[in-house]
Amino acid sequence: MIDNKNNYSLIIVGAGPAALTASIYASRYNLDHLIIGEAIGGLAFEAHKICNFPTEIEIKGAQLVEKIQKHVESLGNPIVADRVVGIDHENDGFKLTTQSNKKFFSKTILLAPGTRHRKLNLPNEKQFIGKGLSYCATCDAMFYRDKIVAVIGGSDSAHTASLYLAEIAKKVYQIYRKDRLRGETLWINQVENNNKIEVIYNTEISEIEGKDKIKSIKLTNPYKGEDKIKIDGLFIEIGTVPQKALIEELSLETNEAGYIKIGIDQKTSKKGVWAAGDITNGANNFRQIITACSEGAIASENIFKFLQEKK
Ligand SMILES: Cc1cc2nc3c(=O)[nH]c(=O)nc-3n(C[C@H](O)[C@H](O)[C@H](O)COP(=O)(O)OP(=O)(O)OC[C@H]3O[C@@H](n4cnc5c(N)ncnc54)[C@H](O)[C@@H]3O)c2cc1C
Repeated sequence: MIDNKNNYSLIIVGAGPAALTASIYASRYNLDHLIIGEAIGGLAFEAHKICNFPTEIEIKGAQLVEKIQKHVESLGNPIVADRVVGIDHENDGFKLTTQSNKKFFSKTILLAPGTRHRKLNLPNEKQFIGKGLSYCATCDAMFYRDKIVAVIGGSDSAHTASLYLAEIAKKVYQIYRKDRLRGETLWINQVENNNKIEVIYNTEISEIEGKDKIKSIKLTNPYKGEDKIKIDGLFIEIGTVPQKALIEELSLETNEAGYIKIGIDQKTSKKGVWAAGDITNGANNFRQIITACSEGAIASENIFKFLQEKK
């Protein structure tokens, strides 16, 4: 439900857990606000299995997102499915321009655009996207029934990708550059005890080979030298990097890794702009759904106070 209004007290950029929770709290404070988000659910949508969100013993990311979205919409909050491409100062507030060239005005902004998948940066990586190379196991695992796949990475998203792929593929290589996996012990135990998954430690991928689709990958191990394995699919799960565009647009202060610096109240270095979720250096850099939700809640409460004081 979207009204024709284009002037708000708060515009929330993003539609992941941080943004959607911020909207729930903004509703509790009766803040007239709008959510503009490109992909509802953000990265949480991609999680195959979530087992660490209170009240949910085990739930697919897509299902959790649907529940949060329903909660937001039950409060009558519109979600505009669009990408914010420009933010300018206008009078005492901001003008936001979207990809579809719509203009919105707001007194305050909450940025919650999250992160994007980190690339390996191999010369021919781009060429194989959709031709055997994927950054989302939940989205693409089904194409690899009874095939051989490799997962690059050693943290929770790589573990959950390997475990999900092992339910479908014939064999899963999990390739990690260090000598031991990191992340939640429960996932690590499941990976190490799954007889379809072979973890290859101390190894980096140096080349992707193939013509129209991936055929094999070349691996480098400082102790054992070079190796080559034949695969049908390659899943890259080596972490995420912040969505930089809007940070640069607003010249916000960031930490060395490019995450928005925020205070305990989620305020950024720019007056009238707050940030929440994976995009920030908050929550002790522990980027999870629950911490994103928490930051969204804190931001809304603080924006409410700010607007009250301005009255
Ligand atoms: C495979 C995988 C498994 C995971 N498993 C778990 C788990 O089990 N438990 C857990 O707690 N966490 C898990 N996570 C981490 C979790 O998904 C993130 O911490 C969480 O989604 C961060 O929420 P966010 O709202 O900050 O960002 P995101 O979820 O990334 O959402 C960002 C939103 O901003 C939008 N956006 C970006 N730029 C713009 C723009 N310019 N204009 C408009 N909209 C924009 C995006 O479309 C999206 O809607 C997992 C992550 C992955 C990738």
